[in-house]
Amino acid sequence: MAIIGIDLGTTNSLVSYWKDGTAKLIPNAMGSVLTPSVISVMQDEILVGQSAKERRLTHGSETAASFKRFMGTKKKYQLGSRIFTPAELSALVLKKLKKDAEQYLNEPVEEAIITVPAYFNDRQRTDTKLAAKMAGLKVERLINEPSAAALAYQTAQNKEEAVLLILDFGGGTLDISVVECFENVIEIEAVSGDNHLGGDDIDQLLYAEFIRKHPELSTLDEQGIAGLRTALTEAKCALGRQDKLMFSYAYGINVVEDYITQEQLLELGLPILERIRYLCSQAMQDGKCSVDEIDDVIMVGGSAQLYFVQRFIEELFGKLPIIMDETDKVVAKGAGIYTGIRMRAADIKDRMMTDVCPFTLGTNIVWDREDDRPHICPVLKRNCPLPFSKTIRLYATGDYQELMRIGIYQGEEYYADENVCLGELLINIRRRPAGEEGISVTFSYDINGVLEVEAENAMHQVVRKLITNDALSDKEIEESLKRLEQLKMPDRETEEYELIRAKLEWLYQKQTGTIRNQTAKILHHLEISKEEGNYYLYLKIKEEAKQWLVQASMYLDTFEPEEYTDGKKG
Ligand code: ADP
Ligand code: MG
Repeated sequence: MAIIGIDLGTTNSLVSYWKDGTAKLIPNAMGSVLTPSVISVMQDEILVGQSAKERRLTHGSETAASFKRFMGTKKKYQLGSRIFTPAELSALVLKKLKKDAEQYLNEPVEEAIITVPAYFNDRQRTDTKLAAKMAGLKVERLINEPSAAALAYQTAQNKEEAVLLILDFGGGTLDISVVECFENVIEIEAVSGDNHLGGDDIDQLLYAEFIRKHPELSTLDEQGIAGLRTALTEAKCALGRQDKLMFSYAYGINVVEDYITQEQLLELGLPILERIRYLCSQAMQDGKCSVDEIDDVIMVGGSAQLYFVQRFIEELFGKLPIIMDETDKVVAKGAGIYTGIRMRAADIKDRMMTDVCPFTLGTNIVWDREDDRPHICPVLKRNCPLPFSKTIRLYATGDYQELMRIGIYQGEEYYADENVCLGELLINIRRRPAGEEGISVTFSYDINGVLEVEAENAMHQVVRKLITNDALSDKEIEESLKRLEQLKMPDRETEEYELIRAKLEWLYQKQTGTIRNQTAKILHHLEISKEEGNYYLYLKIKEEAKQWLVQASMYLDTFEPEEYTDGKKG
């Protein structure tokens, strides 16, 4: 029975495993190690990954992406006639990854190590575990993404002793960690980050700017907007280190052309850079280290490829950041290495990784009167090493009150109600005048980031609460499971078919004239041959369709915009 490591990303998800002394990435059924975290719902079938991503362009209302951003919230997604929670959508991604891994490894997979942003709070972690449960995966441990990156870096470089700052800049999250490596130990000193900052935000800024500069684009319909967004994101990625890049977007018979430049990205991205600067200094402050003490700055995540971000980091730290090969695969590799540690594989079993608590945990208190707005009394301060346990004394503020209510909170805000409430504990106390009767409250945070709170009164009665998995009742989980089970994922052949079909549909919608006609013909043949079940014919048409997609894109590159305008020209 294999254990897999999973990087469940906002944009892309990856699976890895430990074999022959290294972490290997597992390709999905389409042969790619990156599975877009996108879900598209057809009648009874569900598409996950590349085919769903393509289908998003033509069937936006049946498709969801970037849902990791809403883990731990009550947001609902309506896709066609079905409703999903972010955890359910994540469960579908996990299910697909599990299935692909099982096919590739040729054995059942039951357990996974899943990475989460270091800065994920308790609700988001609970939702991630819930998603795993719904996907039929046992999750012993969630590890922080930058910790996984540190593990991958240290393993690749064999650095014996170093203080690293790891900056993971993905599609939807920014994670920063200060990490100390010595001998076989990776010690996370401090983390900071933002769960709502990533490449998606840059895409949004770029899109808004483009619409501002080209008011004629404000008439675009939903699909036109989706296409423009995709094209702009592609251009952002293609820019690399060049000063500027020509960008053109065709819609109907019109085309807009403009440049994307480093300067423009920098200008748009200034507030993002400011935020990065602030979060880096917070992590260093909490980790009690100065800029000079950082040996290496390691950048991972897809958005680490942004040249203007790299330049900014270089200036900030006064040294060249290390951009690891394939920035978007580092976290998954770290997760794979961790599966090796977990299986106690001979070549890696002595490696150790310690972690910290990302947020302050505490309880609510009032200074004197019960009707004051409660503020937080921090018990475990952010960035304390795990495991950690601490006891505080609390006193009743009401005269002759017989019950104390202990709110359990996570966050850095002064007022209790502005933080995340994780639950509460009730404990009876002896009736005494205000301020006389006290209880002890102990917060214990274990190595997996699971919190237990315990209260003890003067009569030595103890009440305990484990803060995990109580976001949903068993019955609710059961119902989710049932609903997800009704949705079938297509086999590899059908998945490829849906992928090609989605691409053809998109091409058809985008084009007019001869390309559109030819695309319609091929789409029709493809559908008929699949329906008729003439496998030989189907394979032949599928190949034709693939060739056509390549040809059509080349044709567009060369001849746009004049040649394809409905036959009016050319
Ligand atoms: P996540 O971990 O959030 O799934 P990734 O680490 O895979 O994200 O990064 C995805 C983000 O990186 C997307 O916003 C994507 O646009 C951006 N990205 C990927 N490649 C590049 C590139 N070459 N240049 C700039 N941004 C990139
Ligand atoms: Mg990531």
